[in-house]
Amino acid sequence: MLTLGGRKTSQEEVDRFLQEVKAGTPVMPVRFFCEFLKEWAQLYGMPAVEERHPGQNAERRAQAEKFNFTFLQIMKSNFLWRRIYRGEPTRLKPCPIHKGRWSGCNLPEDTECKGACMHGGNVTGWLP
Ligand SMILES: [Zn+2]
Repeated sequence: MLTLGGRKTSQEEVDRFLQEVKAGTPVMPVRFFCEFLKEWAQLYGMPAVEERHPGQNAERRAQAEKFNFTFLQIMKSNFLWRRIYRGEPTRLKPCPIHKGRWSGCNLPEDTECKGACMHGGNVTGWLP
């Protein structure tokens, strides 16, 4: 049985994973994909040798900047870390105190909900 973070995977997940591997899907650490995405954004934002239409380079640079902003949010996401590295299911029940809003980092004893919605030091706003 494979594990995903601290959670055991279901047989259905194992079967689906093995099916993908047999089909030739590359298996590599997540950070590799992150590096490829960053590389793509960097190349996308580079000026073309010859613009196909006026303003193309400026448009692409602006798009690359939007991507970089979004990518930074992805890299900072506690939700994605819990989903990708811990295999945690999506939390669907909002904390009655923090109401589904990430509320910074803190110690459980220093939060009003006593850490009920926390993961590590993050006050996720959602109950596990
Ligand atoms: Zn809370």
